[in-house]
This record gives sequence, C-alpha cells and structure tokens, in this order.
Amino acid sequence: CFITFEGIEGCGKTTQMRILAKRLEALGNSVTTTREPGGCPIADKIRGILLDAENSALVPLAELLLYAAARAQHVAEVVTPALATGRVVLCDRFTDATLAYQGYGRALDRETIDRLNEMATTGIRPDLTILLDCPVETGLERAMARINSTAGAREERFELETMEFHRRVRDGYLQLAAREPERFVVIDGAAGVEDTAAAIETAVLAKLSGR
Ligand code: C5P
Ligand code: MG
Repeated sequence: CFITFEGIEGCGKTTQMRILAKRLEALGNSVTTTREPGGCPIADKIRGILLDAENSALVPLAELLLYAAARAQHVAEVVTPALATGRVVLCDRFTDATLAYQGYGRALDRETIDRLNEMATTGIRPDLTILLDCPVETGLERAMARINSTAGAREERFELETMEFHRRVRDGYLQLAAREPERFVVIDGAAGVEDTAAAIETAVLAKLSGR
C-alpha cells in the first residue's frame, strides 16, 4: 500500500508521517518511510541543488526536470522494491507536489508535468494521499520557527517565494484533492498534533482494511 503526504510548508507532513509509521508498525505492518525530493543518496544530492537558496537562478523548467530525475531514481531504488515486497510505503511529498508547486505555483504546463510524472514513476500511483491543509500564514510560521531553531541552517528557496506563490500552491492542492476524491483525504493541519494524528489514523486504517 502506497500512502503519500502532501501540503504546504509547515503543514505537519513529516511529524504526522513519523507518528503514523510508529502506529502502523505497532499494528504489525512492515513500513518504509521516505521523502521527496530525495529518499536515496543520488536523489538527496539533487534535493541539495533544489532547496539551496543560492540556486535562485534555477529556471522553472530545469527545476521541473530535476524533480523528475530525483523521482525516477527514488521510485526505482526505494518505492518499487518496497511495494514489491508488500511493505506499506509512506512518502513525504510525491507527484502531487510537482503539480501543486511547479504547475499551480509556477504555471508550468500541466500536461508536461503529468507526462514527466508518469515517466518518472513508471505509472506507480499512491493508493491514498493525505493532504494536510492549513492556512499559508500558519504553515510558514511553523516552517520559519523550525529553520531558526536549526543551528547552521541555510536559507531555503521557499523563503524567497511570495505569499501569493504559497497561496497558489495551497489552492492547487485543494483543487487536486477535489478532482480525485477517492484517492485524497483532506485533513486539518492547523489542529493539534494529536487530533490530526487521530484523523489520519482513521483514514489510513479504513484504507488498509479495504474501506
Ligand atoms: O518540507 P519539505 O522537506 O518537503 O521541503 C521540500 C521543499 O521543496 C519545500 O521548500 C518545497 O517548497 C519545495 N518543493 C517544491 N516543489 C516540489 C516539491 C517541493 O518547490 N515539487
Ligand atoms: Mg517536512
């Protein structure tokens, strides 16, 4: 079973994924947790290029292709083998992030993104996508607090984006969810950590038990 976590900066994806992984393991599942961009050594190197604020000159098309390259490596090396052995795979961001950020955020052509996603994933699609939705202000406040509390943290590229950009990404995610209601579950990411975790657990257990 392949479950992806999506949402804007600071919506709580990483925290919630960790909580869910522990819970699923306690219930006897073999769980692989991973993330994009990254998830394996080569894709992590590409992540370094993508997130570094020093690379503000990166043009949108080059950025899109780097996401696709990182995804192709990660899917081949991590996601496909884990799913093949029956593991539950939890992934922090996946193809919907590219549609939300590069599509809705940067206005790159939707069909091009769909085609690259299809190629990079070899057609593997999430069985369930948890969209943690929260206001842009709430998310950015959390994300900045996290960065400011990390010693030696470098500036990340998202800090250079406008509020409008982050709003387009949030709205984009909500539109993607509305388009595929069977795959997406939208959960309030502004609620407390435990309430959010409980809502996610309910949705995931329903999916794992075949509804
Ligand atoms: O929070 P996370 O570790 O997922 O951060 C990944 C970074 O990459 C975020 O700053 C996000 O804005 C950016 N990103 C992006 N386009 C994607 C996926 C992530 O700009 N398709
Ligand atoms: Mg995170």
